[in-house]
Amino acid sequence: NAINKPTVKQYDYDKIRQQDKAHFLHPWQVFDVFREEGALPIVEGSGNHIVDADGKRYFDAVGGLWCNNIGLGRVEMAEAIAQQALQLSYANPFVDMTNAPAAELAAKLAELAPGSINHVFFSCGGSTSVDTAFRLIHYYQNCRGKHDKKHIISRINAYHGSTYAAMSIGGKPGDHPPEFDFIKDTIHHLSYPNFYRAPAGMDEQQFVDHLVQEFEDKIAELGGADKVAAFFAEPVMGAGGVIVAPEGYLKRMHQICKDNDILYVSDEVVTAFGRLGHWFASKERFDIQPDIIISAKGLTSGYQPLGATLFSDEIFAVLDAEGSDRCFAHGFTYSGHPVACAAALKNIEIMEREQLLGNVKEIGPYFEQQLKTLEDLPIVGQVRGINFMQCVEYVADKETKALFPEALDIGKRVSNHADARGLITRAIVHLNVMSPALTMTRKDVDFIVSTLRESIEATMADLRAEGLL
Ligand code: PMP
Repeated sequence: NAINKPTVKQYDYDKIRQQDKAHFLHPWQVFDVFREEGALPIVEGSGNHIVDADGKRYFDAVGGLWCNNIGLGRVEMAEAIAQQALQLSYANPFVDMTNAPAAELAAKLAELAPGSINHVFFSCGGSTSVDTAFRLIHYYQNCRGKHDKKHIISRINAYHGSTYAAMSIGGKPGDHPPEFDFIKDTIHHLSYPNFYRAPAGMDEQQFVDHLVQEFEDKIAELGGADKVAAFFAEPVMGAGGVIVAPEGYLKRMHQICKDNDILYVSDEVVTAFGRLGHWFASKERFDIQPDIIISAKGLTSGYQPLGATLFSDEIFAVLDAEGSDRCFAHGFTYSGHPVACAAALKNIEIMEREQLLGNVKEIGPYFEQQLKTLEDLPIVGQVRGINFMQCVEYVADKETKALFPEALDIGKRVSNHADARGLITRAIVHLNVMSPALTMTRKDVDFIVSTLRESIEATMADLRAEGLL
Protein backbone atom coordinates (compact mmCIF):
# COMPACT_ATOMS: atom_id res chain seq x y z
CA ASN A 1 0.00 0.00 0.00
CA ALA A 2 2.30 2.73 -1.19
CA ILE A 3 1.60 6.09 0.36
CA ASN A 4 1.27 8.97 -2.03
CA LYS A 5 1.95 12.52 -0.99
CA PRO A 6 -1.38 13.83 0.32
CA THR A 7 -2.85 17.07 -0.88
CA VAL A 8 -1.94 19.77 1.58
CA LYS A 9 -4.49 19.90 4.39
CA GLN A 10 -6.05 23.32 4.63
CA TYR A 11 -6.37 25.26 7.88
CA ASP A 12 -7.65 28.68 8.79
CA TYR A 13 -4.28 30.21 9.59
CA ASP A 14 -5.70 33.31 11.26
CA LYS A 15 -7.32 30.94 13.72
CA ILE A 16 -4.16 28.84 14.03
CA ARG A 17 -2.14 31.96 14.85
CA GLN A 18 -4.67 32.98 17.46
CA GLN A 19 -4.80 29.49 19.05
CA ASP A 20 -1.02 29.36 19.02
CA LYS A 21 -0.67 32.74 20.73
CA ALA A 22 -3.27 31.92 23.34
CA HIS A 23 -2.23 28.39 24.26
CA PHE A 24 1.12 27.15 22.90
CA LEU A 25 4.00 28.20 25.11
CA HIS A 26 7.00 27.84 22.80
CA PRO A 27 10.47 26.75 23.88
CA TRP A 28 12.51 29.88 24.61
CA GLN A 29 9.52 32.14 23.91
CA VAL A 30 10.48 35.78 24.44
CA PHE A 31 7.19 36.99 25.92
CA ASP A 32 7.33 40.67 25.00
CA VAL A 33 8.19 39.94 21.37
CA PHE A 34 5.84 36.98 21.06
CA ARG A 35 2.87 38.97 22.39
CA GLU A 36 3.31 41.37 19.48
CA GLU A 37 4.53 39.11 16.69
CA GLY A 38 3.39 35.57 17.49
CA ALA A 39 4.91 32.70 15.52
CA LEU A 40 5.20 31.90 11.82
CA PRO A 41 3.15 28.82 10.90
CA ILE A 42 4.99 26.38 8.64
CA VAL A 43 2.67 24.37 6.46
CA GLU A 44 4.66 21.84 4.47
CA GLY A 45 8.19 20.73 3.68
CA SER A 46 10.15 18.75 1.15
CA GLY A 47 13.89 18.10 1.12
CA ASN A 48 15.57 21.29 2.30
CA HIS A 49 12.54 23.50 1.61
CA ILE A 50 9.66 24.65 3.79
CA VAL A 51 6.57 26.70 2.96
CA ASP A 52 4.80 29.11 5.31
CA ALA A 53 1.10 29.88 5.67
CA ASP A 54 1.32 32.66 3.09
CA GLY A 55 2.75 30.25 0.53
CA LYS A 56 6.28 31.66 0.80
CA ARG A 57 8.97 29.05 0.14
CA TYR A 58 12.29 29.00 2.00
CA PHE A 59 15.53 27.04 1.84
CA ASP A 60 15.86 25.88 5.45
CA ALA A 61 19.61 26.06 6.05
CA VAL A 62 19.06 25.14 9.72
CA GLY A 63 17.68 21.70 8.92
CA GLY A 64 14.76 22.27 11.29
CA LEU A 65 16.78 22.43 14.48
CA TRP A 66 20.00 20.66 13.40
CA CYS A 67 17.90 17.54 12.90
CA ASN A 68 16.65 17.26 9.33
CA ASN A 69 19.45 15.10 7.95
CA ILE A 70 17.82 13.15 5.10
CA GLY A 71 15.42 15.94 4.04
CA LEU A 72 11.74 16.51 4.74
CA GLY A 73 8.69 14.70 3.42
CA ARG A 74 10.09 11.41 2.16
CA VAL A 75 7.41 8.94 1.11
CA GLU A 76 9.59 6.01 2.13
CA MET A 77 9.78 7.34 5.69
CA ALA A 78 6.01 7.83 5.83
CA GLU A 79 5.57 4.24 4.64
CA ALA A 80 7.92 2.82 7.26
CA ILE A 81 6.17 4.82 9.98
CA ALA A 82 2.69 3.84 8.76
CA GLN A 83 3.63 0.16 8.43
CA GLN A 84 4.91 0.05 11.99
CA ALA A 85 1.99 2.10 13.40
CA LEU A 86 -0.47 -0.32 11.81
CA GLN A 87 1.41 -3.47 12.80
CA LEU A 88 2.33 -2.45 16.36
CA SER A 89 1.93 1.21 17.30
CA TYR A 90 3.24 0.79 20.83
CA ALA A 91 4.94 -1.85 22.93
CA ASN A 92 5.81 -1.84 26.61
CA PRO A 93 9.62 -1.82 26.85
CA PHE A 94 9.87 -2.28 30.62
CA VAL A 95 11.76 -5.15 32.25
CA ASP A 96 11.09 -8.10 29.97
CA MET A 97 9.14 -7.13 26.85
CA THR A 98 10.61 -5.92 23.59
CA ASN A 99 9.81 -5.15 19.96
CA ALA A 100 11.69 -5.88 16.75
CA PRO A 101 12.50 -2.30 15.59
CA ALA A 102 14.00 -1.42 19.00
CA ALA A 103 16.18 -4.55 19.09
CA GLU A 104 17.27 -4.13 15.46
CA LEU A 105 18.08 -0.46 15.95
CA ALA A 106 20.09 -1.16 19.11
CA ALA A 107 22.14 -3.73 17.16
CA LYS A 108 22.60 -1.32 14.25
CA LEU A 109 23.80 1.45 16.57
CA ALA A 110 26.23 -0.96 18.23
CA GLU A 111 27.58 -1.76 14.74
CA LEU A 112 27.99 1.91 13.80
CA ALA A 113 29.33 3.16 17.14
CA PRO A 114 33.08 3.01 17.79
CA GLY A 115 35.03 0.46 19.84
CA SER A 116 33.30 -1.29 22.67
CA ILE A 117 30.20 0.93 22.62
CA ASN A 118 27.68 -1.87 22.20
CA HIS A 119 24.77 -0.98 24.48
CA VAL A 120 21.90 1.44 24.01
CA PHE A 121 19.32 3.01 26.27
CA PHE A 122 16.50 4.67 24.30
CA SER A 123 14.71 7.82 25.32
CA CYS A 124 12.63 10.57 23.76
CA GLY A 125 15.27 13.07 22.59
CA GLY A 126 18.63 14.60 23.41
CA SER A 127 17.83 16.00 26.84
CA THR A 128 16.41 12.75 28.17
CA SER A 129 19.44 10.92 26.77
CA VAL A 130 21.74 13.31 28.66
CA ASP A 131 19.66 12.79 31.80
CA THR A 132 19.94 9.05 31.26
CA ALA A 133 23.73 9.37 31.00
CA PHE A 134 23.77 11.43 34.20
CA ARG A 135 21.85 8.75 36.11
CA LEU A 136 23.81 5.92 34.47
CA ILE A 137 27.09 7.53 35.51
CA HIS A 138 26.09 7.86 39.15
CA TYR A 139 24.63 4.36 39.20
CA TYR A 140 27.78 2.92 37.63
CA GLN A 141 30.10 4.69 40.06
CA ASN A 142 27.98 3.60 43.05
CA CYS A 143 27.90 0.00 41.80
CA ARG A 144 31.71 0.11 41.72
CA GLY A 145 31.71 1.28 45.34
CA LYS A 146 32.92 4.74 44.25
CA HIS A 147 30.31 6.61 46.24
CA ASP A 148 32.25 9.88 46.30
CA LYS A 149 32.90 9.91 42.56
CA LYS A 150 29.99 12.22 41.80
CA HIS A 151 31.20 15.47 40.26
CA ILE A 152 30.44 16.23 36.62
CA ILE A 153 32.67 18.56 34.64
CA SER A 154 31.39 20.37 31.56
CA ARG A 155 32.21 23.60 29.70
CA ILE A 156 30.88 27.15 29.63
CA ASN A 157 28.65 27.64 26.57
CA ALA A 158 27.98 23.92 26.26
CA TYR A 159 24.43 22.95 25.36
CA HIS A 160 23.18 19.59 26.56
CA GLY A 161 19.41 20.03 26.70
CA SER A 162 16.56 21.30 28.78
CA THR A 163 15.74 18.84 31.54
CA TYR A 164 16.89 19.89 35.00
CA ALA A 165 20.09 17.85 34.83
CA ALA A 166 20.82 18.50 31.14
CA MET A 167 20.38 22.25 31.56
CA SER A 168 22.61 22.18 34.63
CA ILE A 169 25.32 20.34 32.69
CA GLY A 170 24.93 22.90 29.88
CA GLY A 171 26.81 26.11 30.37
CA LYS A 172 25.24 28.84 28.28
CA PRO A 173 24.98 31.85 30.56
CA GLY A 174 21.66 32.90 29.02
CA ASP A 175 20.18 29.53 29.97
CA HIS A 176 21.17 29.96 33.61
CA PRO A 177 19.28 33.10 34.66
CA PRO A 178 18.79 33.68 38.38
CA GLU A 179 15.08 32.77 38.15
CA PHE A 180 16.06 29.13 37.58
CA ASP A 181 17.61 26.82 40.12
CA PHE A 182 20.28 24.48 38.87
CA ILE A 183 22.35 21.62 40.17
CA LYS A 184 25.39 23.54 41.32
CA ASP A 185 27.03 21.40 43.98
CA THR A 186 28.10 18.56 41.67
CA ILE A 187 28.24 20.19 38.22
CA HIS A 188 31.16 22.42 37.22
CA HIS A 189 32.12 24.31 34.08
CA LEU A 190 35.51 24.88 32.47
CA SER A 191 36.35 27.50 29.83
CA TYR A 192 35.22 26.64 26.34
CA PRO A 193 37.78 25.98 23.58
CA ASN A 194 37.05 29.06 21.45
CA PHE A 195 40.42 30.11 20.04
CA TYR A 196 38.87 33.15 18.34
CA ARG A 197 38.25 34.54 21.81
CA ALA A 198 41.27 33.05 23.58
CA PRO A 199 43.16 35.24 26.09
CA ALA A 200 45.33 37.75 24.22
CA GLY A 201 48.83 36.68 23.30
CA MET A 202 48.28 32.90 23.35
CA ASP A 203 48.95 30.78 20.30
CA GLU A 204 46.78 27.72 19.67
CA GLN A 205 49.09 25.35 21.48
CA GLN A 206 49.40 27.58 24.51
CA PHE A 207 45.63 27.91 24.56
CA VAL A 208 45.22 24.12 24.58
CA ASP A 209 47.84 23.83 27.35
CA HIS A 210 45.90 26.44 29.31
CA LEU A 211 42.57 24.55 28.92
CA VAL A 212 44.12 21.21 29.82
CA GLN A 213 45.73 22.75 32.90
CA GLU A 214 42.37 24.20 33.90
CA PHE A 215 40.85 20.70 33.74
CA GLU A 216 43.63 19.24 35.89
CA ASP A 217 43.30 22.10 38.38
CA LYS A 218 39.54 21.59 38.59
CA ILE A 219 39.98 17.87 39.35
CA ALA A 220 42.45 18.77 42.11
CA GLU A 221 40.17 21.49 43.46
CA LEU A 222 37.28 19.00 43.73
CA GLY A 223 39.43 16.68 45.83
CA GLY A 224 41.06 14.54 43.17
CA ALA A 225 40.01 11.98 40.59
CA ASP A 226 38.14 9.90 43.17
CA LYS A 227 35.60 12.69 43.35
CA VAL A 228 35.06 13.22 39.61
CA ALA A 229 32.63 10.92 37.78
CA ALA A 230 32.48 12.22 34.23
CA PHE A 231 33.37 14.88 31.67
CA PHE A 232 30.74 15.97 29.12
CA ALA A 233 31.65 17.52 25.77
CA GLU A 234 30.13 18.05 22.35
CA PRO A 235 32.82 17.23 19.73
CA VAL A 236 31.94 20.55 18.09
CA MET A 237 29.90 22.83 20.35
CA GLY A 238 26.61 23.58 18.63
CA ALA A 239 24.25 26.10 20.20
CA GLY A 240 27.22 27.59 22.05
CA GLY A 241 28.50 28.96 18.73
CA VAL A 242 29.74 26.10 16.52
CA ILE A 243 33.05 25.99 18.32
CA VAL A 244 35.66 23.78 16.67
CA ALA A 245 38.32 23.19 19.31
CA PRO A 246 41.99 23.70 18.40
CA GLU A 247 43.96 20.66 17.27
CA GLY A 248 44.76 18.30 20.12
CA TYR A 249 42.28 19.69 22.65
CA LEU A 250 39.75 16.82 22.58
CA LYS A 251 42.47 14.17 22.58
CA ARG A 252 44.24 15.68 25.56
CA MET A 253 41.01 16.18 27.53
CA HIS A 254 40.14 12.56 26.73
CA GLN A 255 43.56 11.40 27.90
CA ILE A 256 43.08 13.15 31.25
CA CYS A 257 39.78 11.29 31.62
CA LYS A 258 41.46 7.97 30.85
CA ASP A 259 44.34 8.65 33.24
CA ASN A 260 41.91 9.54 36.03
CA ASP A 261 39.17 6.93 35.60
CA ILE A 262 36.74 9.70 34.59
CA LEU A 263 34.04 8.73 32.10
CA TYR A 264 34.20 10.65 28.83
CA VAL A 265 30.72 11.51 27.54
CA SER A 266 30.54 12.71 23.96
CA ASP A 267 27.30 14.56 23.24
CA GLU A 268 26.81 13.84 19.54
CA VAL A 269 23.19 14.96 19.35
CA VAL A 270 24.14 17.31 16.52
CA THR A 271 27.42 15.87 15.22
CA ALA A 272 26.37 12.23 14.64
CA PHE A 273 24.52 10.77 11.67
CA GLY A 274 26.40 12.56 8.99
CA ARG A 275 26.45 16.23 9.91
CA LEU A 276 30.26 16.17 9.95
CA GLY A 277 30.44 13.37 7.37
CA HIS A 278 30.58 10.45 9.82
CA TRP A 279 28.19 8.21 11.73
CA PHE A 280 29.86 9.35 14.95
CA ALA A 281 32.43 12.13 14.85
CA SER A 282 34.21 11.30 18.14
CA LYS A 283 36.29 8.43 16.84
CA GLU A 284 36.00 8.84 13.08
CA ARG A 285 36.90 12.53 13.00
CA PHE A 286 38.63 13.30 16.29
CA ASP A 287 40.14 9.89 17.10
CA ILE A 288 38.79 9.66 20.62
CA GLN A 289 36.97 6.68 22.08
CA PRO A 290 34.24 7.90 24.45
CA ASP A 291 32.69 5.74 27.18
CA ILE A 292 29.24 7.16 26.49
CA ILE A 293 27.80 8.77 23.35
CA ILE A 294 24.56 10.76 23.35
CA SER A 295 22.54 10.75 20.15
CA ALA A 296 19.18 12.12 18.95
CA LYS A 297 18.12 14.51 16.14
CA GLY A 298 19.73 13.02 12.97
CA LEU A 299 19.05 9.53 14.37
CA THR A 300 15.53 9.84 12.90
CA SER A 301 16.12 13.08 10.96
CA GLY A 302 13.29 14.47 13.08
CA TYR A 303 10.63 12.18 11.58
CA GLN A 304 9.98 10.84 15.08
CA PRO A 305 11.23 11.96 18.51
CA LEU A 306 13.98 9.59 19.66
CA GLY A 307 17.19 9.73 21.66
CA ALA A 308 19.81 7.13 22.46
CA THR A 309 22.42 6.89 25.19
CA LEU A 310 25.11 4.54 23.91
CA PHE A 311 27.62 3.07 26.33
CA SER A 312 30.55 0.72 26.56
CA ASP A 313 30.93 -2.97 27.35
CA GLU A 314 32.99 -1.92 30.38
CA ILE A 315 30.08 0.05 31.88
CA PHE A 316 27.63 -2.70 30.98
CA ALA A 317 29.81 -5.33 32.69
CA VAL A 318 29.51 -3.48 36.00
CA LEU A 319 25.72 -3.22 35.73
CA ASP A 320 25.44 -6.81 34.55
CA ALA A 321 27.67 -8.34 37.26
CA GLU A 322 26.30 -11.80 37.93
CA GLY A 323 24.75 -12.38 41.32
CA SER A 324 24.59 -8.68 42.15
CA ASP A 325 20.82 -8.53 41.59
CA ARG A 326 21.19 -5.08 40.06
CA CYS A 327 18.44 -3.14 38.34
CA PHE A 328 18.98 0.20 36.60
CA ALA A 329 15.72 1.72 37.83
CA HIS A 330 15.29 4.21 35.04
CA GLY A 331 13.18 4.38 31.91
CA PHE A 332 10.48 6.02 29.91
CA THR A 333 7.12 4.81 28.63
CA TYR A 334 8.52 5.53 25.18
CA SER A 335 11.97 3.94 25.56
CA GLY A 336 12.44 1.89 22.40
CA HIS A 337 9.19 3.15 20.86
CA PRO A 338 8.56 0.84 17.89
CA VAL A 339 7.43 3.57 15.49
CA ALA A 340 10.34 5.88 16.38
CA CYS A 341 12.83 3.00 16.07
CA ALA A 342 11.34 1.94 12.71
CA ALA A 343 11.80 5.53 11.53
CA ALA A 344 15.44 5.53 12.69
CA LEU A 345 16.16 2.25 10.89
CA LYS A 346 14.69 3.56 7.63
CA ASN A 347 16.54 6.87 8.08
CA ILE A 348 19.87 5.05 8.45
CA GLU A 349 19.05 2.78 5.49
CA ILE A 350 18.41 5.86 3.31
CA MET A 351 21.68 7.48 4.43
CA GLU A 352 23.57 4.29 3.56
CA ARG A 353 21.86 3.71 0.22
CA GLU A 354 22.19 7.32 -0.96
CA GLN A 355 25.68 7.65 0.50
CA LEU A 356 24.74 10.90 2.17
CA LEU A 357 27.87 10.87 4.33
CA GLY A 358 29.86 10.90 1.10
CA ASN A 359 27.87 13.92 -0.10
CA VAL A 360 28.72 15.75 3.13
CA LYS A 361 32.41 14.95 2.65
CA GLU A 362 32.23 16.19 -0.94
CA ILE A 363 30.04 19.30 -0.56
CA GLY A 364 31.10 20.19 2.99
CA PRO A 365 34.51 21.65 2.09
CA TYR A 366 32.88 23.72 -0.69
CA PHE A 367 30.27 25.02 1.80
CA GLU A 368 33.06 25.94 4.26
CA GLN A 369 35.17 27.60 1.60
CA GLN A 370 32.31 29.60 0.06
CA LEU A 371 30.99 30.76 3.44
CA LYS A 372 34.52 31.85 4.37
CA THR A 373 34.39 34.39 1.53
CA LEU A 374 31.93 36.36 3.70
CA GLU A 375 34.85 37.21 6.00
CA ASP A 376 35.66 40.12 3.67
CA LEU A 377 32.54 41.91 4.96
CA PRO A 378 33.28 44.51 7.66
CA ILE A 379 30.91 43.02 10.29
CA VAL A 380 31.82 39.36 9.78
CA GLY A 381 34.35 38.47 12.46
CA GLN A 382 34.67 34.77 11.72
CA VAL A 383 33.08 31.98 9.72
CA ARG A 384 33.71 28.59 11.31
CA GLY A 385 32.53 25.01 11.38
CA ILE A 386 33.07 21.61 9.85
CA ASN A 387 31.22 20.35 6.78
CA PHE A 388 27.43 20.73 7.27
CA MET A 389 27.69 22.50 10.63
CA GLN A 390 28.64 26.14 10.12
CA CYS A 391 28.31 29.53 11.76
CA VAL A 392 28.92 33.20 11.00
CA GLU A 393 29.94 35.45 13.89
CA TYR A 394 29.26 39.20 13.62
CA VAL A 395 31.43 41.81 15.29
CA ALA A 396 31.21 45.58 15.63
CA ASP A 397 35.00 45.86 15.29
CA LYS A 398 37.11 43.30 13.48
CA GLU A 399 40.36 44.42 15.14
CA THR A 400 39.19 44.22 18.75
CA LYS A 401 36.52 41.56 18.01
CA ALA A 402 34.11 43.69 20.07
CA LEU A 403 30.53 42.51 19.77
CA PHE A 404 27.49 44.60 18.96
CA PRO A 405 25.31 45.35 22.00
CA GLU A 406 23.14 42.30 22.68
CA ALA A 407 19.94 44.37 22.45
CA LEU A 408 20.77 45.09 18.82
CA ASP A 409 20.15 41.42 18.07
CA ILE A 410 22.49 41.46 15.10
CA GLY A 411 22.02 37.78 14.21
CA LYS A 412 18.25 38.28 14.14
CA ARG A 413 18.58 41.38 11.98
CA VAL A 414 20.55 39.42 9.38
CA SER A 415 18.26 36.41 9.56
CA ASN A 416 15.20 38.66 9.08
CA HIS A 417 16.72 39.95 5.85
CA ALA A 418 17.52 36.36 4.85
CA ASP A 419 13.93 35.26 5.61
CA ALA A 420 12.66 37.93 3.27
CA ARG A 421 14.94 36.47 0.58
CA GLY A 422 13.77 32.90 1.15
CA LEU A 423 16.60 31.62 3.35
CA ILE A 424 16.22 30.39 6.93
CA THR A 425 19.29 30.67 9.15
CA ARG A 426 19.22 30.47 12.94
CA ALA A 427 20.06 33.59 14.87
CA ILE A 428 21.76 33.11 18.24
CA VAL A 429 22.52 36.64 19.53
CA HIS A 430 25.55 37.65 17.40
CA LEU A 431 25.62 34.49 15.31
CA ASN A 432 23.86 32.84 12.41
CA VAL A 433 24.15 29.07 12.49
CA MET A 434 23.50 26.62 9.68
CA SER A 435 23.04 22.85 9.50
CA PRO A 436 21.22 21.97 6.28
CA ALA A 437 20.02 18.54 5.24
CA LEU A 438 22.80 16.25 4.03
CA THR A 439 21.35 16.23 0.51
CA MET A 440 22.51 19.83 -0.08
CA THR A 441 24.08 20.50 -3.49
CA ARG A 442 26.66 23.02 -4.74
CA LYS A 443 23.82 25.06 -6.22
CA ASP A 444 22.17 25.21 -2.79
CA VAL A 445 25.48 26.36 -1.29
CA ASP A 446 25.72 29.14 -3.87
CA PHE A 447 22.18 30.26 -3.00
CA ILE A 448 22.92 30.27 0.75
CA VAL A 449 26.16 32.20 0.41
CA SER A 450 24.91 34.82 -2.04
CA THR A 451 21.69 35.33 -0.06
CA LEU A 452 23.60 35.63 3.19
CA ARG A 453 25.94 38.18 1.62
CA GLU A 454 22.99 40.30 0.44
CA SER A 455 21.34 39.98 3.87
CA ILE A 456 24.50 41.08 5.71
CA GLU A 457 24.92 44.02 3.33
CA ALA A 458 21.27 45.01 3.85
CA THR A 459 21.82 44.82 7.63
CA MET A 460 24.90 47.05 7.35
CA ALA A 461 22.84 49.56 5.36
CA ASP A 462 20.21 49.58 8.15
CA LEU A 463 22.88 50.05 10.81
CA ARG A 464 24.37 52.96 8.88
CA ALA A 465 20.95 54.55 8.42
CA GLU A 466 20.40 54.24 12.17
CA GLY A 467 23.81 55.73 12.89
CA LEU A 468 25.00 52.48 14.47
CA LEU A 469 27.80 51.70 12.02
N1 PMP B 1 22.69 18.05 23.24
C1 PMP B 1 23.00 18.84 22.22
C2 PMP B 1 24.44 18.95 21.79
C3 PMP B 1 22.02 19.55 21.54
O1 PMP B 1 22.34 20.37 20.54
C4 PMP B 1 20.67 19.40 21.94
C5 PMP B 1 19.54 20.11 21.24
N2 PMP B 1 19.84 21.20 20.48
C6 PMP B 1 20.39 18.57 23.03
C7 PMP B 1 21.42 17.89 23.65
C8 PMP B 1 18.99 18.40 23.53
O2 PMP B 1 18.22 17.65 22.66
P1 PMP B 1 16.63 17.72 22.68
O3 PMP B 1 16.24 19.12 22.36
O4 PMP B 1 16.23 16.71 21.67
O5 PMP B 1 16.18 17.33 24.04
